[in-house]
Amino acid sequence: LILNKEGAVEFYIPDPQTYRSIYSAPVFYNPSMEKNRTLSVLLLKTYGSGLTVCEPLSGTGIRGIRYAIESNAVGRLILNDISKEAVELIKKNLELNGVEGEVYNEDANVLLHKLRNTCDVVDIDPFGSPAPFLHAAFRALRDEGLICVTATDTAVLVGRYPRKCFRRYNSVIRRTPFYIELGLRNLVGYVARVAASEDFSIQPVFSYWENHYFRTCALATRGAREADDSLNNLGYIWYLKKRRKIVQTLDEHSSGPLWIGPLGDPLVVHKMSQYGVYSVFLQTLEMEYSIQAPWYFRLPEFAVDGKSPTLEKTLELLRRGGIYATRTHMSYDGFKAEANYDEIARILSI
Ligand code: SAM
Repeated sequence: LILNKEGAVEFYIPDPQTYRSIYSAPVFYNPSMEKNRTLSVLLLKTYGSGLTVCEPLSGTGIRGIRYAIESNAVGRLILNDISKEAVELIKKNLELNGVEGEVYNEDANVLLHKLRNTCDVVDIDPFGSPAPFLHAAFRALRDEGLICVTATDTAVLVGRYPRKCFRRYNSVIRRTPFYIELGLRNLVGYVARVAASEDFSIQPVFSYWENHYFRTCALATRGAREADDSLNNLGYIWYLKKRRKIVQTLDEHSSGPLWIGPLGDPLVVHKMSQYGVYSVFLQTLEMEYSIQAPWYFRLPEFAVDGKSPTLEKTLELLRRGGIYATRTHMSYDGFKAEANYDEIARILSI
């Protein structure tokens, strides 16, 4: 073991020099998930205090411990891992940080079912797909609770493996220039459908993509009627030759079912951006969440003689033309706009 630091917390991890990759270490710690954990701390800060937080796939415990120390929002911390080595390490790390927490060594689904209706926050952070843990997560959640989900099976969610995507998420995803957004909406749509089957509606407050994962955090409200209403946010996105539209059924040019409602709450991410960490990123999300269209455009789609317009110029022209437009965190050459392709093309060519 070596001592490591992330955010305001010092904690033990298996010595990376001893193992060929993070996946062969006896307990899993992924330093490239730092942003995921830090942003989640900020979200908890905006969400409340005295919260019962359950992280049923804890690894080293770093996530839950950071929530407790840095967010000031945690009342009861419940950590768990199926690995005995992980559980030993979690206990050591809790003690090192003087944080009180309950630590279990169960299958996440078993624990979540036992916690029935007690958690304010359930954070699902698995290897790969969160699908196997989602039903149980809603069982553990209280009315008005927060469900947080990380998915690292990004290639599946964006439709690179169609059969696996259909098996895991029951969806069909076509090739488009805005496939990152389809992947994110595929995940949120799936969460919404599982929520509905457990009589919850969801309202995403914070969803985004980063290189190797998708993340969504949503408020969950219990109620059959609410759950029915929430399903009105599901639909299909049709794409052909740069044209996009929302449709109600699957055909050879449409993808879905997808979440076509808001991916997040602009007010929440605005608050999160005030803490001075990842502020520029959060400001981008704030603007994106204010646009209803569930897709983005790519600059090469508006190329003339093989030459793409620049992002700055494009945004300026659109805004001058009275169209709300903003860059997107999902693509360096992408932008979101409250207009269709032909309107944008017309404005850019004058
Ligand atoms: N949340 C941690 C963090 O932010 O550092 C990383 C968690 S790691 C991606 C997933 C963890 O889930 C591993 O430690 C693994 O042992 C544990 N795990 C896998 N299947 C499980 C199951 N069915 N029940 C409980 N834990 C499980």
